[in-house]
This record gives sequence, structure tokens and C-alpha cells, in this order.
Amino acid sequence: MNASQTKPKASKESLILLIAIVTAIILGFILGGFFPSIGIKLEIFGQIFLNILMLLVVPIVVLSMIVGISRIQNLSQLGTLGSKTLAYYLITTAVAASIGIVLVNLIQPGINQVIATNELPANSEFLPVDIFTALKELIVGNPEKEQQGLIGYNLFLAMEKMDILPLILFSIFFGAALSSLGKKAKKSIELFSVMNDAILKLVHWVMYLAPLGILGLIAARVAHSGGFKAFIPELLSLGLYALTVLIGLALHGFLFLSLLLKLFGKRSIASYLKGVATALLNAFSTASSTATLPLTLQGVHEENKVSEKVSNFVLPLGATINMDGTALYEAVAAIFIAQLYGIELSWIQQLIVILTATLAAIGAAGIPEAGLVTMLIVLRAVNLPIEGIGLLLSIDWLLDRFRTTINVWGDSVGAAIVERWDTEKPSENEEV
Ligand code: ASP
Repeated sequence: MNASQTKPKASKESLILLIAIVTAIILGFILGGFFPSIGIKLEIFGQIFLNILMLLVVPIVVLSMIVGISRIQNLSQLGTLGSKTLAYYLITTAVAASIGIVLVNLIQPGINQVIATNELPANSEFLPVDIFTALKELIVGNPEKEQQGLIGYNLFLAMEKMDILPLILFSIFFGAALSSLGKKAKKSIELFSVMNDAILKLVHWVMYLAPLGILGLIAARVAHSGGFKAFIPELLSLGLYALTVLIGLALHGFLFLSLLLKLFGKRSIASYLKGVATALLNAFSTASSTATLPLTLQGVHEENKVSEKVSNFVLPLGATINMDGTALYEAVAAIFIAQLYGIELSWIQQLIVILTATLAAIGAAGIPEAGLVTMLIVLRAVNLPIEGIGLLLSIDWLLDRFRTTINVWGDSVGAAIVERWDTEKPSENEEV
């Protein structure tokens, strides 16, 4: 690729795209908020855009993982890469939950509040009862729901149901097997690599639809919440709780993760942020880390130049299990519910909240409002009333967008840091 010739054009193009997306978000809020009937009509554009993104997720997960792993020449490096990535995920997620706990105890948004209860989320009855069942489901899935865990049994079913974890595990081993075949597999690896590039090209094209799609998504979502007339009073009634979550997300994202990026990733925060800005705005607009994955890969690898090997490994896994924003939100929400019901939690119970919020975030799928449902695990672990979740429903769609943005930022920062920690030189196959 002749980078020097394409760069100015590319960055001008991405700037225009960014401006168009920001305008679409603002316009979406205005249209959906003041003219809900028009907002709902725009939904189709959002659905078209979201469908196309979701269509790209399975091929991108499988191909990028296979290509990334097959680039590793010394397979013992795979364990090192894996353990460094998991360490980054676990530590940052637990820090996020801890920031949430500290803030909710300081601000105390649930003390002296009276709020009417809503119904429970529709899918909550499907959730595992306790933390051990939840862990078991994460590993082997739940045959009753035809849902597969990390160790799956049917690849095609996993693709159909978009169970990403078994696809990732299979692709890791398949990539490793290809790499172990040496010269014999060189042509096949090249083929996977070209297919992966073709999918990334499709992502690039899809981005032209982003402004219209995002306009439709936001306008329809605000309209569905009843427009500003219905939504603003609900937001105000939960204002302090929402503010606690938002302050926590800002501290974690802009302070903690950015500091990590600077110190351990040795990157300029502003330029790295610029490289993944489209992905972050898309995360905000779709409330889905999974649907954003194609753009995260593009931003981290193509714009920010993190090696293909590392970004292809860290990002698909991160979109599925690394959710800092979700953990922070679950910790705040659980303690908020305890405060509302006047239940005092000991510091040991608050530690359990940090631990279970971390695990519940790992278990949450990268789809809208998944965190609201896995929060049941946290509430059950410390015996808090699960009806409390109903209280948070009305504004969750909005908080979900902010936490998803931080989830994607956490994955992106992770790729830069893991790349620094990675000791293996780029392989001869890799075009940098
Ligand atoms: N929507 C979030 C995501 O896709 C998950 C959540 O509900 O917290 O990352």
C-alpha cells in the first residue's frame, strides 16, 4: 500500500465521516426527542445499518483470529500473549468495578430516594441462578437454551446463534494448527489473510452508511422512550444515580485507561483516540461492542497501526469478555439498589459486589442492555432484591451507550498495551 499517497485523503475522509456521525447523533436526539413519530419512521435506516454490521461479525471474528494467531511463529508465545491479554482484561475490569463502588459510596445516590418500581427485564428469567452456574454456562453453555459456552460442540450453530466464544476458541486453535504446519500452510494463511482484508474493505464501505444508520438508531431509540416529554422526567428522577455512573465512566475511561495507554502503551492519547473515534461513536450509537467490532479492528489496526497479530487476537476477545464500563455500572447499580431499599452492605459484601460485577461483565454479551440482565448475578450474590433492576430500566438504554463506549475504549487501549508487552517480532508474513 502506498501509505504516503493515501494518508491525507484518508484522514480528510475520516474527519468528514466523524463530523457527519456527530451531526447524526445530535440530529437523532433532536428528532426523536421532539418529533417521536418521525423518529420511529427513521428506524429502518438504523436497522439496515445494524444488520449489515452484525452480518460482518462472524466472518470477522473467525478470519481475524485465524490470521492473527497463524502469524505467531513460536507457538509458546500464544500462551504468553493470551495470559497478558487476560491479565489486562481482569485487572482493568476489577479496577472499573472498584471505581464504581468508591463513587457510589461517596455520592450515595440512593439515600432518601423514593422511586416507583417497573417490571423486570423480559429476559431475566433465563439467567443462571448463582455465580457457579453462571461460570459453568460461560465454559460449557446451556444446552436447554441451545447456547454454547467457550467449549462449544457445533460450529455452525455457534455462527447461527452468534455465540462468539466458541468461535474464538476454535479459531485460535485452528490458527495455531496452521502456524504449526510451517511452509506447507503459507498459501492457506495468505488466503485467509486476503479474505480478512476483503471483509475489512466491506467495513470501510459500510462506513458510508454510518451517518444515516446512526441517525435512524438514535432517533428511533429516543422516540421509543416516549420522546423528551416522557424521558426527561424519568432521567431526572434517577439523575444522581445516572450522574454517578457517568462520572465513574469518565474517570475510568479518560483518566485511568488513558494513563495506562500513555504509560504502558507509549501512545499519544489524542491521536490514538482520534484513530478509534468512529468506533467509539458507533459504540455509543449501537450500544453493542459486538456490532462495533469491525470498526474497532479497523481503527486499532489500520488507523492506529497496532500489529495485525495483536489487534486480531485482543479485540474480538475483548468485544466478548472485556467490559469495564459494564462492570462499573453493575457495581454502582447494585449498591444504589441497596441504598434505595435501606440495606447496609458490609465491606466484605462490597468486595463480593466487585468480584461478581467483574464476572458478570465478563459473562455479558456485547449486545444492548446485556449488562442489565447479568446484574442479577451480582444482586443474588449479596442477597439484594432483584426487583430493584426494574427501577433502573427506564434510563438504561442511555447509560448503556456510555458504558459500551468505555467497553470499546478499554479493548482498544488493551491492544496498544498488549502490543508493547508482546516480545515476539512481527512475522515475515506480516505486512506492516
Ligand atoms: N451493551 C454493552 C456492550 O455491548 C453490554 C452491556 O449491556 O453492558 O458492550
